[in-house]
Amino acid sequence: MANLDADVVIIGAGLGGVTTGALLTAKGLKVIVLEQAAQAGGLCARVAREGYTFQAGGNILNGFELGGGHERVLAKLGLFVTRTQLDPGFQLVLPNHRLNFSPNKQQLLEDFQRAFPSDFTGLKKCWQTLEGLEEVFYELHRKDCFCVPHTLKEKYTYFKDVQQRLSKHYKEYEKSPLQLLEENVSSAEVKRMLDTLCFFYAQMPLEGCSSLFYAYLTGLARRGIFYIDGGIQELVNQLVNHITKRKGEVKFNSPVTSIITEGRRAVGVMLANGQGIRAKHIIANTTLWNLYEKLLPSSSRILKKLKVQTEDITPQWAPFTVYLGVDEGVLPNEMRENVFLLNDYKKLGDVGTLLISLSPKWDVKRAPKGKRALTISCYLPQDRQWGNRSDYATRKQQQMERVIDSLRSLVPFIDEGIEYKEAFTPLDFEKQTGRPQGVVTGLATTPSGFGFKHFSNYTHYKNLYIVGDTSFPGHGTNLVSISALNLARIITSR
Ligand SMILES: Cc1cc2nc3c(=O)[nH]c(=O)nc-3n(C[C@H](O)[C@H](O)[C@H](O)COP(=O)(O)OP(=O)(O)OC[C@H]3O[C@@H](n4cnc5c(N)ncnc54)[C@H](O)[C@@H]3O)c2cc1C
Repeated sequence: MANLDADVVIIGAGLGGVTTGALLTAKGLKVIVLEQAAQAGGLCARVAREGYTFQAGGNILNGFELGGGHERVLAKLGLFVTRTQLDPGFQLVLPNHRLNFSPNKQQLLEDFQRAFPSDFTGLKKCWQTLEGLEEVFYELHRKDCFCVPHTLKEKYTYFKDVQQRLSKHYKEYEKSPLQLLEENVSSAEVKRMLDTLCFFYAQMPLEGCSSLFYAYLTGLARRGIFYIDGGIQELVNQLVNHITKRKGEVKFNSPVTSIITEGRRAVGVMLANGQGIRAKHIIANTTLWNLYEKLLPSSSRILKKLKVQTEDITPQWAPFTVYLGVDEGVLPNEMRENVFLLNDYKKLGDVGTLLISLSPKWDVKRAPKGKRALTISCYLPQDRQWGNRSDYATRKQQQMERVIDSLRSLVPFIDEGIEYKEAFTPLDFEKQTGRPQGVVTGLATTPSGFGFKHFSNYTHYKNLYIVGDTSFPGHGTNLVSISALNLARIITSR
């Protein structure tokens, strides 16, 4: 391991890893991406079955509008994906209401008024306050200053741009979204409606979420939700091609078992086959937990510090997804591409709260003509025993039936249309991505972790960085792309 094998080694070919890799190869750096699985994409990876193509993470896609994270990456690299803006971006189906989250704000407010007439004034006020915060969020990341200040230059930018702008909204920024809501609205139903968005994006109710992160969620539909032809994997594939065309490498079936450190500096990685690869910079596209608990030498001091920062964000929910190939004749006309379904106001999570994503009629890459690929996701309370129990197969089957049963409130004749069905358990997600129980959430969604208290792409080791949804600014594909843009800028400026 005497000579450097590359400028940069990236552990993981998830969206965060391949985006950073492509941005760095474009700058002339020699990049090696090491992926444990047989394909790139991680949570965004395609699942192709009997003429249908499904995907778990990456159905509600934002960031493809001008100035969005994905769009900025595509523009920098001279790439293009075919996209269609959806209107509404998504539907929220509640026990007695259906709300269309349209890019047209007026239309959304009319829906709010129709559903919650007595709380409308308060809800509108709360929503507008959050939109004000979202404007700040958006402007900052577009100006590339949404990065935790580390170097002198970054600190200067922070004080000049960030501090000033946030100070105008400081009162709201310091409050939780629940506080903002409670000051204006009393209805438990409105709260649960707002909880549902928060739960899907951050797997927590409003009270646990950072107001700036929640503000970002309120802007999703307004800024634009897009459908990418062929799905988000099209973007991943283009990024992988970009890396390999520029003499970078993406190696599959190459799990990294440890990061080699010398003192407080990372110098290389060890693969499961015993090979060592040495590089100037090491990037982990893994979760924070995997990085510190599995890949780095155990250091009680660092882990203790990390635990303090992450104590309010121990992931509690694990994804369970059902893939259905269906005849489109059974789908109700008013059903849109993305639907959040809340079946019971009293209960959040499990099969009562579903995210249903439908491949559009026109995308024949995803389903044969007249058929549609349906992905139904929910989050179950974490259970470390998922994979160890002898009744695993029965449990998987029963859970899938529970999800389909819950779907019947939206698609009553679903059973008559199902042509293919398969479930993906937390254990399947774990195998696909290396995430324990497949958990998706990060520090950045919490009040203590979102913003400038987060350690962003930096770690406690020199030359070792993190990218992806547990780094800053956080969760969801657009924010993962923004974390990659930040990191590529940090590394190329070194
Ligand atoms: C059910 C579900 C629904 C979602 N819906 C949406 C949505 O609608 N919209 C949206 O924007 N986001 C959604 N998300 C979130 C989104 O998918 C993720 O935030 C994003 O894909 C995370 O990308 P990443 O690169 O950070 O991580 P990952 O996708 O996890 O990539 C990490 C990669 O690293 C590899 N790896 C890990 N450890 C090692 C190792 N030791 N050696 C080598 N390789 C390793 C993994 O195999 C993986 O390929 C959803 C997520 C889930 C689970």
